Amino acid sequence: MKVMKFGGTSVGKPERMHHIAGLVSKETEPVIVVLSALSGTTNALVEIGEQIARGDRATAKQSIEKLEAHYHSFVNDLLKEPATLAKARAILGEHFEFLHIILKISFSEALSKDILAQGELLSTKLFCTYLEEKGIEHALLPALEFMTIDANDEPQIGSIKIKLGQLIAHHPGKRVYVTQGYICRNSRGEVDNLKRGGSDYSASLIAAAIQATVCEIWTDIDGMHNNDPRVVKKTVPVEQMSFEEAAELAYFGAKILHPASIWPAQQYNIPVKLLNTMQPEAKGTLIVQEAGSVGVKAVAAKDNIIAIRIKSSRMLLAYGFLRKIFEVFEKYRTPIDMITTSEVAVSLTIDNSVYLKEILRELEPFGTIEVDESQVIISVVGNEISRTEDMVKKLFGSIMNIPVRMVSYGGSPHNISLLVPASYKTQILQQLNKGMFGLE
Ligand code: ASP
Ligand code: MG
Repeated sequence: MKVMKFGGTSVGKPERMHHIAGLVSKETEPVIVVLSALSGTTNALVEIGEQIARGDRATAKQSIEKLEAHYHSFVNDLLKEPATLAKARAILGEHFEFLHIILKISFSEALSKDILAQGELLSTKLFCTYLEEKGIEHALLPALEFMTIDANDEPQIGSIKIKLGQLIAHHPGKRVYVTQGYICRNSRGEVDNLKRGGSDYSASLIAAAIQATVCEIWTDIDGMHNNDPRVVKKTVPVEQMSFEEAAELAYFGAKILHPASIWPAQQYNIPVKLLNTMQPEAKGTLIVQEAGSVGVKAVAAKDNIIAIRIKSSRMLLAYGFLRKIFEVFEKYRTPIDMITTSEVAVSLTIDNSVYLKEILRELEPFGTIEVDESQVIISVVGNEISRTEDMVKKLFGSIMNIPVRMVSYGGSPHNISLLVPASYKTQILQQLNKGMFGLE
C-alpha cells in the first residue's frame, strides 16, 4: 500500500480534483490519499477565527458567507449528477452551519481548532463524492479517529498504527482510501492540528504507520530544487537526496516539504517522493537513506532570523557558561538554529521572537548583548560536503562581496550555514547559483 498526499493547489480547482482522481485510479496498488484543504481555505479559516476572537462577528459572518459561495461554485463545477450534487450540497450545508453556529457561542482556543479543521473535512468529503460519481470504489478514513498527539504535541505513532489498522480492517479490500491531512486529536480529546503545512507530516506518519511502499507528496513543482525558484530564475530539481539532506533543506527554508515530515519516514525507512501534480511524468525528487551522490545539492534561505551576540570576559576559560545561556532559551521554549563561539563571545540565532524581550532581559547579567534583526540563514546542503574538493573556495569565492555575519561549518557533514542581512538574500542566492551550480 502506498500514500499519496495532495496539497492545497492540487485540489484547489474542480479540474484539479478531477485530475488527481484520475492519477489515483490509475494506481496498481492500494493507496491512502491524504488531502490538504483547498488552497486559500485554511488562510480564510484563520482569519475567521481571528475575527471571532476579537468579537468582530459581523465581519466573520461576511467571511463565512464568502467562503460558502466559493464552495458552492466549486461543487457546481466538480459534479454533474443530481444525486452527487445534492450530496455535496448537504456536506456544505452541514459544515457551514457549524461555522454559523460558532458565531453565536463564546470563543475559545479549542473552538479555533475546530474552525481550522473544516478545510480538510470539506476537501476529503467532496473528493469522495466525486469518486462516488465516477464509480471509483473507496473508503473515507476519518483522521480524527486515528491521528493523535500527546500532551507535548508529539504524534503517538504506536496508537496511530493500531487505530489506523483497525479502520482499514473495517473497509477491507478497497483500492482507494481517503483521509484528512493536518487535523488530529490532542491529549484532551479535542480537535487539534499538526500546525500549518502539517498535511505532509500526516502523510509521513501514515506511511510509517502502515509501512507504506512509498510516501508520495504531490505539489505544484517537480521536486526539491537546487535553489529557491521564487528568487532565482534558473533552478533544477534534485533527483535524489538522503533524509538528512532533506531535513536540513526543509528546516532551512525549502517550502516544498514540512520539516517534521522527514523523521517518521526516516525512522521507518519509507522512501519519500516529491512529485508534480501538473507534470506527473516528471521524475521529481526521491528521498531515501542513501544520498545518491557526493557534493552540494541545494541551497535554501530561512527568513526572519534574529541574531544575538553575548560578549563577556567572564567566558574566558570558564565552564558552564553556555549551559546558563541555553537555559534561558529553554525556559522560553525558543529553539536556537545556529551557534558560533569565540573565546569571549557567543553568537546564536532564533526565528521565534515571541519571548525576545524576556530572553534579552535574562541574558543581560551575562555580559554585553547585541541584537541584529532582519537576518536570513543561507544553508548550503549536500552529502559529505566538507570532503568535496574546492567546495569552500567555490562557496566563499562566489560571495566575496557579501557581508557574512556568522558561519556554521562542521556541525553536520551535510550543511554549511551562513547568516547574512535579509537585504542580501536575493543577491547571495543568485551568486551561489552561479558559483556552486553554474546556473544563471
Ligand atoms: N491546510 C493546512 C495549511 O494550509 C495544512 C496543509 O495544507 O498542509 O496549513
Ligand atoms: Mg504544504
